[in-house]
Formats: sequence, C-alpha cells, structure tokens
Amino acid sequence: MKPLAVDAVIVGGGIAGLWTLSHLLAAGRTACLLEKSALGAGQSVASQGIIHGGLKYALDGTLTQAARAIADMPARWREALAGGRPDLSDARQSTDSQLMWIPRGLGSRFLGLVAAKAGRADASRLDPSEWPDLFRHSPFKGQIVRHGEPVLDVPSVLGALRAVCDPFIRRLPEGGLQLERTGNGRYCAVIGDKLRLEAEKIVCMAGEGNAELIARAGAGNDVATQRRPLHMLMLRDAPGDLYAHCLGRGYSPKLTITTHYDRHGGRIWYIGGQIAEDGVDWDEQTLIAQGRERLATALPWLDFSACAFAGFRIARAEPKTRFGHRPDAPVVREWGNLLFAWPSKLAFAPALAETIGQRVGHAAALNREDLAAALKVLDVPDVATPPWEGAAWK
Ligand code: FAD
Repeated sequence: MKPLAVDAVIVGGGIAGLWTLSHLLAAGRTACLLEKSALGAGQSVASQGIIHGGLKYALDGTLTQAARAIADMPARWREALAGGRPDLSDARQSTDSQLMWIPRGLGSRFLGLVAAKAGRADASRLDPSEWPDLFRHSPFKGQIVRHGEPVLDVPSVLGALRAVCDPFIRRLPEGGLQLERTGNGRYCAVIGDKLRLEAEKIVCMAGEGNAELIARAGAGNDVATQRRPLHMLMLRDAPGDLYAHCLGRGYSPKLTITTHYDRHGGRIWYIGGQIAEDGVDWDEQTLIAQGRERLATALPWLDFSACAFAGFRIARAEPKTRFGHRPDAPVVREWGNLLFAWPSKLAFAPALAETIGQRVGHAAALNREDLAAALKVLDVPDVATPPWEGAAWK
C-alpha cells in the first residue's frame, strides 16, 4: 500500500474533531477526519448545546484564569453562526440567551451573591414584565436573570461542519483504524488494506474512544482519562420552550432545562444539572419519580401529568484530573506524533481547534486534491441522532 503523507489525521468526528478539521483546512493544511460510526455519536449529540460564557463557573466558584477563556466563546460561536469561519450559517440556534430562575426564600445574601457574580458573565435581572410566558401568569415570586449564553441545535451544527469540510470526512470500515508504530516513536494510521496515512500529527479526538486509542498506542499513565457519568432526564410534550437553570441552595443548578424538537415536531425538555448527577445511582423509574417531584417543586403552576418521561445514561469523557474534578479548559496531551485532545465542553471547540492548529505544521507531500481522491474508498458518515429519538417513553 502506498503511504499518503499528510499534515494531520483526526480520529473522531464529534464537535472537537469537526471544528479542528475545519480550522486546519482553512489554514491550508492537508488533513482529514476519520469517524468510527456517526458524527457526534458520543457526547456531542447528547449535549444540551449550551455555549457557556462562564456563568456556571462563576456560580460554583471555579472561575480560574483558564476558565475565564470561556467568556470569549459565545462571541466566537455567534461569529461562525453569522457566516464567519467556519461558516455555520446553516446551523440552528435555539435561543440567544438563557434564563436562571431563583426561587424566593433563598435569602437576600444568596441573591446578592448571584447578582454580583452574574454581573461578570453578561447577565441582567429581568423585570416581571419581561418574564417568559411560562412564568408571566404564574404565582412565581422569585427572581429571573437572563444571561447571554446561546443554546444550539447540535445536530444541525454537526451537519454544517460536515458540509464545510467536505470531502475530507470519512467513516471507518469495520475493523476501524490501527495505530502502527513506525520505529522512531512515530505512528501511522492504517485502515485495513485501504489506506495508510503517514501524518505529521495524528490527533485523537474520539471522546470516550480516546481511552482505547491510548491503550492501543501504549501511551500509558501520562495520558490517562476519566469518565464522569450522568443520568439525564427527558420529558416529551413539554408545556413550552424553556432554556433555563433552576437554582437551589447550592451553586450547582438543581435543574438545567433545554428545549428540543423531535423528528415528529414533539417538544422535548432535556434536563441536566444536579438531578443528572444524583441520578447516576438511580434506576430509570427512580429518576423519573424524582424528576416529577423536582419539576413540581420548581414549577408548581405547570401540569406535567400528561407528559411522558425517559432517562438517558451517558458519561463525560475527559483527561484525568487530580481529584477527578471537571477540567476547566480544553486539554491536549502529546505522545510521539499523537495528540490526544478533549474540549472539556462543547463551547470550547473553537479554542481547542486553535491550540491544535499551532501544533500542526505544513509539510505534507500530498496535495489536497489527491487526498480527496484517495479518501473516496471510504463512505461519508451520517450525523448521529439525539437521545430523545430512540427513547422508550414512560
Ligand atoms: P464526542 O462528542 O464524544 O465525539 C467523539 C467521536 O469520536 C464520536 O463521534 C465517536 O463515534 C468517535 N470515535 C470514538 N472512538 C473512535 C475510534 N476509535 N475511531 C474513530 N472514531 C471514534 N458542553 C457544553 O459546552 N455545553 C453543554 O450544554 C453540554 N452539555 C452536555 C450534556 C451532556 C449530557 C454531556 C455528556 C456533555 C455535555 N457537554 C456540554 C460536554 C460536551 O458534550 C463535550 O465536551 C463535547 O461534546 C466533547 O466533544 P468531542 O468531540 O471531544 O467528543
């Protein structure tokens, strides 16, 4: 098999791999992406699509220097959605800002703290006349804060990125990809008897799949990973559109609700926050019972009796941190010519792509037209379907 010399091969087509490929292609690199199943099939399509601007970090007190970088992300994404680079003008934004509702009785000291911290993260307290419909005619007596964090329809973002990067995205056949050691601490990517790609950098952005790639490359403890499981709650036939965090006594939101539409036009609430963390040890029935109870407490004027519910288990895949905490910024670890990378948040994909871009040179012998022609032996992957499409509603 004739080896193809390229600048970069990206392994994994979630938000990180796709955005990085678009960045490398725009910078003139000869690069391609190889996906095992469907684009975003891991965490990306299961995410809530919130482009965090730092409010969450501000609230739970982890606004480190690294986390401050997230404040730039909403603007970076809005630029792309408006047709910038990459051009995501075909992607859908579900809302340009989210709400945070703070039930009455949490104490004015706490409210003052929220307001002060929220002030750092593009947030403003709403007058009751500006409250959304779901709250306007309610007996709700607390505070509602609007903050400038958009929520995106992630499958449409993945589809738009695939279009931008066409024809350099391909699906791996059965048997996947082998990382073959070439002798001088370098690896090349081998796809059965179809392709042999000698890349200056092989960038592993396979989410949970990075653990297996690390093991296969023998990269060892220097590049360890962690999983943080979640049990998300889903609700069908939701009473209205809502993109909001419900705050409780702790700093972590009790419920984080985003609204999505299934292929039949059904309105879904996808619910994370504290309930998804607590729910890890619960079976689905307990999660649903707890979900009904917490919704009834948080939004007592709404009737959920006709709604169907389901649970969805997924884990956040991340580089290992010292105490197993959430990393507060994107991470790249190097092993020979392999880079293992995690955005840590969907929102950080642009920042991670720029970091990778600085590490990938431009020395490939192959031109892009020849790479595109060689890749035709592989299929084009679909975009993955979100969790609510396959839910067994109860
Ligand atoms: P993934 O999206 O997991 O993609 C990895 C890809 O690699 C997949 O397509 C997979 O099929 C492929 N793959 C795996 N193994 C191989 C292999 N051997 N060869 C080739 N391909 C392979 N972040 C936010 O900023 N906002 C949010 O609202 C948000 N909500 C979230 C909600 C949930 C429930 C979860 C779990 C996460 C959420 N996140 C959120 C975090 C965010 O989803 C992730 O940080 C981000 O999607 C990770 O992207 P990724 O491309 O690294 O990985």
